[in-house]
Amino acid sequence: MRPVLDGHDVCLDPPATAQVWLGTGVGGGHGFSEIAVPGVRLARGDALVAVELAAFGPDEVLALVGRGAASLPVVPGGSAVGRVVEADEHARAHDGRRLRTGMRVVWSGTVACGRCVPCHRGLASACVSGERYGGERTRRSWQLSGTIASHVHLRRGTTVVVVAEDVPAAVLAPVAGAIATAAEVLHRASSLLGLSGVPSLAGQVAVVSGAGAAGLVATAMATDAGARVVVVDPEEARRERSRAFGAVALADPRASTGSHALPRVLASVDRSGRHRTVGFAFDGGTGVSALVDQVAVGGVVVLGGAASATGTPAGGRTVSRGRDLVVASGRLVEGLVTLTGTQDAAPERLASAVAWSSDAWQRWPLESLVGRTIPLAEVGGALTGVGAGAGDGLIGVLGGQLGVGQEARLRR
Ligand SMILES: [Zn+2]
Repeated sequence: MRPVLDGHDVCLDPPATAQVWLGTGVGGGHGFSEIAVPGVRLARGDALVAVELAAFGPDEVLALVGRGAASLPVVPGGSAVGRVVEADEHARAHDGRRLRTGMRVVWSGTVACGRCVPCHRGLASACVSGERYGGERTRRSWQLSGTIASHVHLRRGTTVVVVAEDVPAAVLAPVAGAIATAAEVLHRASSLLGLSGVPSLAGQVAVVSGAGAAGLVATAMATDAGARVVVVDPEEARRERSRAFGAVALADPRASTGSHALPRVLASVDRSGRHRTVGFAFDGGTGVSALVDQVAVGGVVVLGGAASATGTPAGGRTVSRGRDLVVASGRLVEGLVTLTGTQDAAPERLASAVAWSSDAWQRWPLESLVGRTIPLAEVGGALTGVGAGAGDGLIGVLGGQLGVGQEARLRR
């Protein structure tokens, strides 16, 4: 019986390269090793993209360092912008278009099966067999599985959104990460506020706790939606930076009294207290109880992004358990406060994150979210610096030069 070949082989000359994380203290260097991948087998619905620019955040560095040996080695990186090099004939963009060579795209951080119960309920980010770009142990059938590479193998079940040519790469590289997370968190708050009689964020006061990339984006998005945003962060420089993203007032979470204390800052923005309906926590959960305390009756608090990692390997996968949260039950039962969270964005939110950022970069400094850009080969040294707290902006990683043959094809 002849074997039935599912999919087709793509040969890469020169080979694709990826930076593989081997764990801390392995191999003497910074735990990275470069691998060359001369070919990829695309299954039905798969595509191969050349990375233009990947965005890598400090929370990802911490998650990487904390990974258990069972989930190594891994090609890190979950967010990037790139260009289709080759696509199976069944590969589709989110809008239904067939993916074709040369298309500039961003893609979701996760691969969903589309068949399990969470997927059928529209909660693809909680897919029971879902896999994560930059989060899976390297295997022969999926070597180019993270964005810290020259190429990424996009698997069927990935949401792919075609992006415009004129939007800077530094704006698009964080879309699948920080920007989609912020879009999802805002969406959850808006839909829950709808249930409590407040139709949207317009006219509301939103508190954003944590002024990292996702917090800054949420500040700008909520401002665009008509909210007045108060930003809470322990570091003054981060707080001050959020003004450029629309923050109208700033608070220090460590101040219990004085002009920087959150209750006082909120009183200055919203004297009646009726409009403080929304809290967004991008701080790993540290500010959640303060947000639950401060929102008005019927308010919503959404915890976004990875739970501050106390990852425990379960069956080879890293399961993020996160910190325990303490909230007063009276706030939930008497204050009718809703507390929820989300780690990944639904496919629709990736599309809306692209739509928002393709326009918003002209009024908000979204390009500045990527603090510095480095070549792929320098990832080891750069990421070690981030782990030491040397900077908290996103690092841009260039996917490298396209091969001559690939470049010729892209120009077609
Ligand atoms: Zn699923």
